[in-house]
Amino acid sequence: MVNYEPGQDRNVAALSNLAMCDGFYKMKNLKEKYMSLALQEAKKAALIDEVPIGCVIVKDNKVISRGFNKREVKNDVTSHAEIEAIRKASKKLNDWQLVDCDLYVTIEPCIMCTGAIIQSRIRNVYYGSEDPKGGGLVSSLNLSEIKNLNHYPNIEGGILKDECSNIVKQYFANKRKNKTLG
Ligand SMILES: [Zn+2]
Repeated sequence: MVNYEPGQDRNVAALSNLAMCDGFYKMKNLKEKYMSLALQEAKKAALIDEVPIGCVIVKDNKVISRGFNKREVKNDVTSHAEIEAIRKASKKLNDWQLVDCDLYVTIEPCIMCTGAIIQSRIRNVYYGSEDPKGGGLVSSLNLSEIKNLNHYPNIEGGILKDECSNIVKQYFANKRKNKTLG
């Protein structure tokens, strides 16, 4: 169904609708492209036996930093993928404020990372799969219901959702299998 304004040529209306759809798909593809880069980071975590969560930060259509979960290797509870990427982005921009930056992470950020996202003024947060046990954007905390913060990022979830959740499920399934075998 093509919407067209009264008096507008149907063909022109159809073409402009097509252009809008094209723009929509380009945006969707772009988000999926960056999320697939975050997934690559998650795979790096899996290779060193960390819970496979990955993150990239994008500014002006360029990836400015990447990070994956390193909590075990660093023995550092703050070494989540998002914090790793935020630290690198701040270093790169020489600024703790990451205004106009978009963060892509495979799993909904935890409460700690949500705090860092707010503090760093990240503009948009895109995540793959929700984390019902600790997600700080919509699951355990619902950011939109928290009052009086000085910054609220835009939030969009469900980007490459299945790929993002499957890699974590697979990781824990392997863990359980190895435990039974060992
Ligand atoms: Zn976190």
